[in-house]
Amino acid sequence: DKPHHNKVLIENRLAEIDQIIVVLANKGGVGKSTVSANLAAGLAKDGFRVGVADADIHGPNQSRFFGFAGAKIRNSKAGLQTHGFVGDGCAYPVQVGSLAFMQEDDTNPIVWRDAYKHDFIHHLIGSFDWGSLDFLVIDMPPGTGNELITLCDMLEGSDVSALLVTSPQAVAQMDSLKAGRFCNERGLPVIGAAVNMAGVQCPHCKEEFHLFPDAGVTEALSSLGIEKIADIPLAAELALGSDMGEPIVVAQPDTVVARAFAPIIARV
Ligand code: ADP
Repeated sequence: DKPHHNKVLIENRLAEIDQIIVVLANKGGVGKSTVSANLAAGLAKDGFRVGVADADIHGPNQSRFFGFAGAKIRNSKAGLQTHGFVGDGCAYPVQVGSLAFMQEDDTNPIVWRDAYKHDFIHHLIGSFDWGSLDFLVIDMPPGTGNELITLCDMLEGSDVSALLVTSPQAVAQMDSLKAGRFCNERGLPVIGAAVNMAGVQCPHCKEEFHLFPDAGVTEALSSLGIEKIADIPLAAELALGSDMGEPIVVAQPDTVVARAFAPIIARV
């Protein structure tokens, strides 16, 4: 009896989830997990029932971004239990499901071949007890390979759209365009692109400067019919919020960087 291979179980879970948002960057380190966490927290602040599924197998950070470092998985008759992040002013906790909860120690690397990853993606959706959700945000690993294909196949028939995350730099742009092409070829609707690490304010003179050269990311995205919907600056508070385990949109909603997430939250 293999619950992860149980198509019915996955279909039953998906039937309870209104809308799925797959967060893609193709490249690592551009802020995909940060954007996923803040999008989820922002939606929860707006009164929605939200889950975050951490599909980034080799870097499952959502547990830490929501303050659950070291938290362990619990099982129940209804399935694997998520950990619920209760944000200030949120009617419902953000339900976080991550592989990190199943690790003895999340500082150890995950060394898996594709067959295991395929199974895990099925477990992530089918075995976790997501309950009824308005939104499930899925933080994808870098790349357009195994995990993404498995997920897209599994979600066929659900209301799914993608959010791209990139940085202004040419290498990040090139990778995000590949993700954009993947979506277009698969017929996966793209909500838009968030450009992260777009500018930083000098703490001394308060002038804004650009750490990464702008490679014309807005134009390149629009050539694929993808709209840039947000510019998120580099900000110490954002990095700190993630490290402290509280998304900035909840921890410090009045900062410039927290407000930068508003157009993404409003768009989905
Ligand atoms: P990815 O999921 O794309 O690999 P992360 O969201 O984990 O990227 O971000 C990589 C690192 O950069 C994290 O430590 C995160 O806290 C930090 N970071 C991301 N975006 C910003 C930003 N705009 N300002 C400051 N730090 C950021």
